[in-house]
Amino acid sequence: MAIRLLAPEVASQIAAGEVIERPASVVKELMENALDAGAKSISISVAEAGRKLIEVADDGSGIAADELALAVSRHATSKLARADDLFHISTLGFRGEALASIGSVSRMTITSKVANSNAGARIKVEGGREGKVESVGAPTGTVVRVEDLFHNVPARLKFLKADVTERRAIDALITRYALAYPNVRFKLSEGNNVTLQTSGDGDRRAILAALYGVDVAKQLLEINSEEEGIRLSGFTSPTALTRSNRKDITFFVNGRWVQDTPLTTALIQAYHTLLMVGRYPMGAVFIDIAPEEVDVNVHPAKAEVRFRNQDKIFGFVQRAMRRGLLAYSPVPQVAPTLWGTRSESSQQVGLDWTIAHDGELKVESSKLQVESRESGVDQPPNLEPSTLNKVPLLRLIGQIGATYLVAEGPDGLYLIDQHAAHERVLFEKLMAQHDQKKIPSQSLLTPAVVTLPPQSAKALESQLSILSQFGFEVEEFGTNTFQVRAMPSLFAGSDPSAGLRAIVEDFEEDESPLQNEIEKKLAARVCKRMAVKGGQTLSAEEQRALLSDLERCDSPRTCPHGRPTMIHLSVEMLEKQFGRKGAR
Ligand code: ADP
Ligand code: MG
Repeated sequence: MAIRLLAPEVASQIAAGEVIERPASVVKELMENALDAGAKSISISVAEAGRKLIEVADDGSGIAADELALAVSRHATSKLARADDLFHISTLGFRGEALASIGSVSRMTITSKVANSNAGARIKVEGGREGKVESVGAPTGTVVRVEDLFHNVPARLKFLKADVTERRAIDALITRYALAYPNVRFKLSEGNNVTLQTSGDGDRRAILAALYGVDVAKQLLEINSEEEGIRLSGFTSPTALTRSNRKDITFFVNGRWVQDTPLTTALIQAYHTLLMVGRYPMGAVFIDIAPEEVDVNVHPAKAEVRFRNQDKIFGFVQRAMRRGLLAYSPVPQVAPTLWGTRSESSQQVGLDWTIAHDGELKVESSKLQVESRESGVDQPPNLEPSTLNKVPLLRLIGQIGATYLVAEGPDGLYLIDQHAAHERVLFEKLMAQHDQKKIPSQSLLTPAVVTLPPQSAKALESQLSILSQFGFEVEEFGTNTFQVRAMPSLFAGSDPSAGLRAIVEDFEEDESPLQNEIEKKLAARVCKRMAVKGGQTLSAEEQRALLSDLERCDSPRTCPHGRPTMIHLSVEMLEKQFGRKGAR
């Protein structure tokens, strides 16, 4: 075939394909335009998951009648003048191609009016062909109506997913933008049904409730941090609240939703050893940074950004989240329901604070509706991280069921799971020795011989060098058989073959590529196996030693796999349960 120039409508459909993949992409571009225009209120209507209709109405600056035709042509933008401007972009749009692209794959009508004009103007674009600009009456702002998306691109239509899926993508998009712009009112409707509405009063926690439900929203921890001109704000889940995937981690950079970002990894790493393997946190994190520090022009749908100093941002996010997390890491409260009553405090969800819930925050869980309200959610008390994260000084009372220690603290009773607590203690000791590169090791009088299944034996072979760094002296001793000659003194008295088996168990699971992560996971596994078990009677001396070791830990409140080491029955709760206080 000879080389020839593409017909304009073919070229523009190809270009549109980059930006407009599915109905949600249209919603995204139109919402971004409304936000760029300074809208305080954005209403979105959809029909048939956006295939039939997407309409976005805003009360922003509007487009002047004599610029309307320009707005829908390709590479026409009011947001960028010189190439230089690309390196400090503070608007969401900048390429001037969204309206042109949408217009080439749908029937699009734009009606708009600027504040200082009496009349509004309207233009229609169908399959890329522009109509004439007409004068019409309209309120200040812009309404973009997009009908029959992809009617002229059947191939694209075929690739769309089921309506529920496309619709879910739209919902996810709008709720996330609502979260990023809490001062803007968002409303999503389908026919006469309003499915999402935010108040625009700046309260992010109420929007989180719309996104994840009230129960989850009130548990999320608020994080704020600033370092060298980078600001971070947002929410993250306490260690008891996890997901099986990373889908509920949302990052916004300078008001832009970025996906597939290394920032997600930074957040996950902040939870290291606090979550069980295979569990992920939830989070919504908003980062503000000087526009010159980010390149936003790296992805067709602007869904990724590149940082000038990626390591710096990464480290900052990780530190900020970890600090925030440890600061809040609470001792779980015994849920009053466990004690046979359902009092009003059953709203309590394991944190030291609760949401104001007497009708102020109304969420219909089947829909996504948050009504505006006056006061905000109670904020967690502003306590010093150092004191919050630690356990208070405890007075040992004894052991029950050969499994739990009972202790009294300044503010009530503590039940400590001896196994989880010992796991935490061993883990921190082992990692501290490891960091100093000297793990005291003890030779075994009789080496332990362990035969493993072939798969595990292979996994172990590849770990022999790490093992020696951890104070294990292990040698191959025939096919799939190993001999343990020495192990860390920390584990003296424990069964060496159990330790070895712990190391290889689950090893096929996708391990983090980072050496450091592998080592920590490995240490956590061994410590779990070596820790005292439930059902094991401890002498008073052993109990006391365990408690004081735990008090000295950096993260005493969870085991390395994220389970709580202790639960707390506060004096206040005891008083309530015994009817001494708050009885009616
Ligand atoms: P970009 O957003 O990259 O500039 P678009 O094709 O999305 O490109 O929009 C082209 C131009 O039309 C914008 O630069 C802006 O001036 C104008 N515009 C689009 N949507 C709106 C809106 N909702 N309110 C005001 N102006 C708008
Ligand atoms: Mg745009």
